[in-house]
Amino acid sequence: MTRGRLVVHAHFYQPTRIDPFTGELPPDPTAAPYRDWNERITAECYRPNAEHGALARASWDLGPTLSHYLADAAPDVLAKFADADRRGGGRDGGPAIAQAFHHSILPYSPLHDRRTEIRWGLRDFEVRFGRPAAAIWFPETAIDLATLRVAAEMGVRGTVLAPWQADAPHLEARAYRVDLGEGRHLAVAFYDGELSASVSFNAALTSNAEAFAHERIAPRLHAALPDGSPPTIVIASDGELYGHHQQFRDLFLRALVDPDPGMPDRGFDVVTLASLLEEPEGRPHPQIRIRERTSWSCHHGVLRWGADCPDVHDGRWKSPLRGALDRLAGAIDTVTEALAAELPGLEDVWAARDGYVDVVLGLVGVDDYAAACLGPRSPADHRRRLAAILEAQRWRLAMFASDGWFWDDPTRPETAQNLRAAARAVRIVDGLVGTRLEPRLVADLSTLRSPALGIDGAAIYRHAIAEVGQPPPAS
Ligand SMILES: [Zn+2]
Repeated sequence: MTRGRLVVHAHFYQPTRIDPFTGELPPDPTAAPYRDWNERITAECYRPNAEHGALARASWDLGPTLSHYLADAAPDVLAKFADADRRGGGRDGGPAIAQAFHHSILPYSPLHDRRTEIRWGLRDFEVRFGRPAAAIWFPETAIDLATLRVAAEMGVRGTVLAPWQADAPHLEARAYRVDLGEGRHLAVAFYDGELSASVSFNAALTSNAEAFAHERIAPRLHAALPDGSPPTIVIASDGELYGHHQQFRDLFLRALVDPDPGMPDRGFDVVTLASLLEEPEGRPHPQIRIRERTSWSCHHGVLRWGADCPDVHDGRWKSPLRGALDRLAGAIDTVTEALAAELPGLEDVWAARDGYVDVVLGLVGVDDYAAACLGPRSPADHRRRLAAILEAQRWRLAMFASDGWFWDDPTRPETAQNLRAAARAVRIVDGLVGTRLEPRLVADLSTLRSPALGIDGAAIYRHAIAEVGQPPPAS
C-alpha cells in the first residue's frame, strides 16, 4: 500500500528596509503600534510560527534580507528557524531551502548577476543553517533555462514552481526533472494550483485543517502513480499568510503539518520538499520542459516586473524604471572593470563580488576582505578603492529587488527603497572615479511618471533620498 505525501511550502520574505547610507532601519509610523513593518510581521508571523514548532514539519525558505533583519533584531526567532531545520532534517536534509539574495527577477538580470544572487543566497543559507542548501526558491519563481543552469552549476538540485510554468498539458502529483544540457539537470516540484489558492485566498474553506486534509487533500492522494511511486502534492504560498495577512492562520499551518496524534489517520504523510526532490536510487524523475520567463504571481510571464501587464491599472512606469536602472548597472560595471584593471593582485573582480557576501553578512571586515583579494602587502589606497567599488556593487544589486516593480505605483515605499539603493551605488562611484552618472540617472528617471500623483521619476528619486536626509542630486 503506497501512502501519499504532502509538502507544505512557505515562502518567508521581506525586502530590506535599511537606509543604504547608514545601515540603520528607520522607524515607520505606518506599522504602528510597532516600530516598523519588520517588527510587526515578526510579532504576527515569524515568531508565532517559529514557536509553534510547525517549521520542523513544513518546508520553507527564509529570504536573506529577512534573515539579516532577524539576526539583528530578533536573533532568538532566527535561532528557532535554524533549530526547526535541524529537528526536521532527515536523510535528505531539513525543511529549509535557500533563496536568491535580493529577490530580484533573475530572468531580467545579466548572467553575472544571476550567479552573484544565487551564490550569495546559498552562502547566506550555509551561514544561517550550518549546512549546504539542496534546493532554492527563485524570487517570484521567475525562471528561464539559463537561471536554472546557473543554479545547477552551483550544486543546487531542485526548486518549486507554479503549475503553469510546466510546458505540459497534465501534471502528475510528483517531482520532475528539467534537462539543462551538458549532463546537468534540476529537479522541479510543481505546486498544486487549486489547493495553494485555497490556502492563500479561501479562508472559509481552510479554517479547519483536519477537514481540509480529509476532504480536499486526501482524495487526491489515494491512488499510486502509474509507475507505482507514491503521489505527492505540494502546497505553496507566501509564509506571511500564516499570521500576518490572515490572523491565526499560523495555527492552521501547525494543524495541517503536525496533526494531533489522537486524530483519525488521514492516509498520507507530511514530508519535506527536499525529500520529494531527491531521486530514488536508479529511478530518475520523468523529464519535463519548462515555459521560459514565467513566474508564480504574473500570468503574463515576467511582465509584471518590467512592463505594463494587466496586473495593475497603469504599469507604463515599469519599463522606463528598469531601463534607467539597467543603464546605471551597466555603467557601474564598466567602471568596476576599469578600476579592477588598475589593482595589481586582483584576479577576478566578479569573483571578488561573489565573495563579498561575507562582508555583507558581517563575517569578515571590509579591509581584511580587500586585503585577501589584493594580497597582504597591497597598498591601503588600493584596498580602499576595491572596498568602495564592491560596496557600490552591493547596492547596485539591491536596487533590482522585485518589490520596486510589483505594485501599482512608483511612489510606493518599495520603489523608494530601490531608488535609495541606486543613489547609494551611484554616489559611491561618482565620488570614487569622478564620473557623472547620477545626473544621467535622474534624467533617465524623468521619463517615467506616477499614475497616482502625476510626478515624474526624477521627483520620486529626489523625494526618496531626501526622506533619509541625503542632499539632492547635483544637476
Ligand atoms: Zn501580469
